Amino acid sequence: MDFTVSDKMQAIVGMMREFVEKELVPLEPDFLAKDFRSMLPVIEEKRAMVRQMELWAPNHPREYGGMGLDLMEHALVSEVLGRTPIGHFVFGCHAPDAGNIEILHKYGTPEQKERWLKPLVAGKIRSCFSMTEVELPGSNPVMMDATADREGDGYVVNGQKWYSTAADGAAFAIVMAVTNPEAPPYLRASMIIVPTDTPGFNRVRNISVMGHTGSDFFSHAEILYQSCRVPAANLLGPEGWGFAIAQERLGPGRIHHCMRWLGICSRVYDLMCRRAAERVMSPDGRTLATKQIVQVWIAESAAEIQAARLMTLHAAWKIETLGVKEAREEISLIKFYVAGVLQRVVDRALQVHGGLGMTDDTIISFFYRHERAARIYDGADEVHKMAVAKRILKGYAGRSARRV
Ligand SMILES: Cc1cc2nc3c(=O)[nH]c(=O)nc-3n(C[C@H](O)[C@H](O)[C@H](O)COP(=O)(O)OP(=O)(O)OC[C@H]3O[C@@H](n4cnc5c(N)ncnc54)[C@H](O)[C@@H]3O)c2cc1C
Repeated sequence: MDFTVSDKMQAIVGMMREFVEKELVPLEPDFLAKDFRSMLPVIEEKRAMVRQMELWAPNHPREYGGMGLDLMEHALVSEVLGRTPIGHFVFGCHAPDAGNIEILHKYGTPEQKERWLKPLVAGKIRSCFSMTEVELPGSNPVMMDATADREGDGYVVNGQKWYSTAADGAAFAIVMAVTNPEAPPYLRASMIIVPTDTPGFNRVRNISVMGHTGSDFFSHAEILYQSCRVPAANLLGPEGWGFAIAQERLGPGRIHHCMRWLGICSRVYDLMCRRAAERVMSPDGRTLATKQIVQVWIAESAAEIQAARLMTLHAAWKIETLGVKEAREEISLIKFYVAGVLQRVVDRALQVHGGLGMTDDTIISFFYRHERAARIYDGADEVHKMAVAKRILKGYAGRSARRV
């Protein structure tokens, strides 16, 4: 593999990094103290600057106003933007819109693209993805209660979903619902576009997560769909293709998440090293950096970040060259491995900061709370570990240990 980063990408990533440090990191104290909605005017100002620099929507198609970077290129971008919680949002490549844009681009009809995809890429509207249900295991989504019944020229959607991230203020939801209960399990559900102003779309609440209810883009909603009637033309992709499309949405999405998590790792790693180097621990001037245990944390973090980064770039390369299906194993490996590295590195950085680490005077405690979810969404650790192990063990079935 060639690890050279092209001149073009070095320039792009360099500009983004400078913007993150100069324009976005200074907004973090307000971000931590205020309601996100009240930050929108200043966020829009920064977005306008990003558009002017022609760095808007790096991973989205050129024909819709994005930069059209490929997955490997966007992985590098995602890492640098991940250094701050608002990076991806300000540059127009945030989840869940990013995944919705991908599937609308691939499966949307010309009308759906005109009405939903164009303004979504432009950052004029937002969307959410509504699959997980309150009463059923998200880890096994074939167990799904939500239904979309065909009635005349429309679908009538009913169901109780939660963790629909960023539903507050979204213009539409892409909803997974059962359209054909008699079909084989993986062909039962479809994706339907439900505008949030449809009668029967009830955002019950923004869920309090780790003590924060959040607002607007930074929130997770519970939604009750009560006889929500939408035109049949709102079906996204063929009927029954819901799970197949969801799988496709998740492949590149996991690369984006993992590289974003590595951006977080590199940010808190910098903070950890800086704190260790400056915190004087005894009257003779010795700092935390002189303590072996802290040195071990720093060395282990450096190694884990580097390993996670190479694994993620390799998975991105495999998706690009062979497709999502062929890269399934690598995608599962990075999903749990990088989430674990993230958790360990953030925890060490917090520990090195002592009481300061627990405060909101640094960004570390936000990452500690918020990113615990990395081990749960997009497939919990255990689901990915079991999937990988099963595939590995298949190759050993029937082989005698003695003859190897
Ligand atoms: C911050 C956040 C954002 C999210 N955003 C969205 C969103 O935008 N849209 C959306 O639809 N959903 C979203 N989700 C929901 C997420 O996809 C689900 O939480 C996830 O799929 C797990 O489902 P569950 O919560 O029902 O847990 P369950 O399926 O009940 O699993 C609980 C636990 O059981 C264990 N487990 C599960 N399966 C196995 C197994 N086979 N073997 C051993 N152990 C197992 C795991 O430890 C798992 O954490 C979000 C969740 C979070 C936390």
